[in-house]
Amino acid sequence: MRNAGGYATWQDSSGKTIECDTFTCGHCGQVKHVMHMHKQDPSTIGGLCYQCMKNICPKCLATGRCDPFEEKLKRMESRIDARRSYEETWR
Ligand SMILES: [Zn+2]
Ligand SMILES: [Zn+2]
Repeated sequence: MRNAGGYATWQDSSGKTIECDTFTCGHCGQVKHVMHMHKQDPSTIGGLCYQCMKNICPKCLATGRCDPFEEKLKRMESRIDARRSYEETWR
């Protein structure tokens, strides 16, 4: 997922080129597409988290908390490490 703030174009079934901006939500890591065709209300796209200064999706914006994706990954990794050391003690 290296297309944070990227730009994507593709063609639909009628051969029309669709342009869209993409951004990766800084909290859940989901890639969101922002269509140019329909000018979306910025509040439906998401917003900026003022704590980690990342673009975040509406769902994460609604939680009102800063919970960066990198921190989530770190938590997941430490959980795996904890289980691994637990298993080793029982060998
Ligand atoms: Zn999100
Ligand atoms: Zn944040």
